[in-house]
Amino acid sequence: MRAAVLHETGQEKLEVLDDVEAVGFGPGKVRLRIRATGLCHSDVSAMSGVLPQPAPFIPGHEGAGEVVDVGDGVSGLSAGDRVLVCWLPACGDCPSCKRGQTHLCLAGFMNAGTPNFRRPGGDVFGFAGTGTFTEEVVVGAGCAVPIPDDVPFEIAALIGCGVTTGLGAAINTAQVEAGSSVAVIGCGGVGISTIQGARVRGAAQIVAVDPVASRREAALRFGATEAVAPDELADAKQRVTGGEGFDYVFEVVGRSATARTAYETTRRGGTLCVVGAGAMDDTFQVNMFELFFDEKRILPSMYGGGDVLRSYERAVALWRAGRIDLESMITHRVRLDGINDALDQMRTGEALRTCVEL
Ligand SMILES: [Zn+2]
Ligand SMILES: [Zn+2]
Repeated sequence: MRAAVLHETGQEKLEVLDDVEAVGFGPGKVRLRIRATGLCHSDVSAMSGVLPQPAPFIPGHEGAGEVVDVGDGVSGLSAGDRVLVCWLPACGDCPSCKRGQTHLCLAGFMNAGTPNFRRPGGDVFGFAGTGTFTEEVVVGAGCAVPIPDDVPFEIAALIGCGVTTGLGAAINTAQVEAGSSVAVIGCGGVGISTIQGARVRGAAQIVAVDPVASRREAALRFGATEAVAPDELADAKQRVTGGEGFDYVFEVVGRSATARTAYETTRRGGTLCVVGAGAMDDTFQVNMFELFFDEKRILPSMYGGGDVLRSYERAVALWRAGRIDLESMITHRVRLDGINDALDQMRTGEALRTCVEL
């Protein structure tokens, strides 16, 4: 079958091959036919080595499709079911799951070191234990979450990562208060979802910050009350908050420099919510005096910061009610052959979300 493979970490281009096989099918597993997959920035970060991932590997973790085959012992799923791919499946049994924080369950990572694919040349891993830039993938049953019939595959794919991550940061983690002031630094798919989450929560001002003009324009369409370039943020802080700083600042880039800017843009007693996925060797620094004296809350948010399945359901409910717009987030569509162009469009910020149809 066809799949897009990264041979070595650090390479910029994927090779689309048709000699790839999805392996590992058996008890507790399901085989999926992927129909749509989004390009998430984490795919690019794994390719460049910012996020740890063994190579060669097939990127993609934001996908949806149909169940082809169900292994022994799998209940609640059967062939033909429409599902989205959850790259962080909950075991339901560990302390994190029992607390309702299924996004902190590590069970899914236990399989991350096991290859999901094979080629004549050897084993191939799947990014984050999934790998959706492919026609078929075998995953644990917990990674296949049924979706309602009215949710198209491409919308379900977005809910599988970017939308859940961004909405959840505003709704679960920061719990943005009605009438508050918000700044969102970084307006790709996740940042736009954060803006939509802040709007759903009733924020009065939402300032979008991004160096790319097309993303600033997009942010305004999705609920930002104004959009500025990074060098205009200090001015916006002065204008919108009287210099005090925003009630909530979301860092959706994943770099210590932007996190530091976000910290300084947060008001005393306000909330800095770190959503971006950064590197292990990039250290965020706060001195002990400001940490104590300014009482800013630093809240990291991973994958929506809450019960993952509940977050999916909520995203579907908000989308169905017309409270969030997911269709317009898909600015580009390609077939698998166009994957490298799509990656470039993501790197330059030209695409908000590209959907790969398979
Ligand atoms: Zn668990
Ligand atoms: Zn993602």
